[in-house]
Amino acid sequence: MKDTLRILIHNNCNLSCSYCCNKISEQIERMVHKPLSEIDFSLYQNICITGGEPLLDLIYLESILIELPKDKIIILYTNGYLLNSKALLLLYSYNIKFITVGIHDVIIPLINRITHEYEIFNRIYHDSIQIRFNINDVHKEAKKELGEEYFKYLEQQNKH
Ligand code: SF4
Repeated sequence: MKDTLRILIHNNCNLSCSYCCNKISEQIERMVHKPLSEIDFSLYQNICITGGEPLLDLIYLESILIELPKDKIIILYTNGYLLNSKALLLLYSYNIKFITVGIHDVIIPLINRITHEYEIFNRIYHDSIQIRFNINDVHKEAKKELGEEYFKYLEQQNKH
């Protein structure tokens, strides 16, 4: 069984990062266009939902989530800007327990807002969702700009 099936639900995004992998031709060539009904989900352990920004259109996102098998671990990958209580509730209702927020900028207020919002959410819904801030995708030039202190701060947030 393979590890993770990555489903890029659309290419639209509310950010426009110069280093976006969706603009890299080798990456585009590796993508396979397939309707969900043609995917053999049994070959994969986990499913990663990504984009573009998957939270850009919650109705469309829901139309995808409803088609996914219920026995898989589903991870949602987002840039975090649209991650609010409405989005959290939708993800919770489809049993999505893991959210990865890809860090693309110096956005401590955004990280604080997300941390605050999901702490409240998890108090109500009994720690049902786990959010990780991911720095692995940060472009190396951006990493230099962000500095070491910023990454230490993110590590602290991930311990919550
Ligand atoms: S947030 Fe992600 S998907 Fe959107 S432009 Fe940046 S790298 Fe691309």
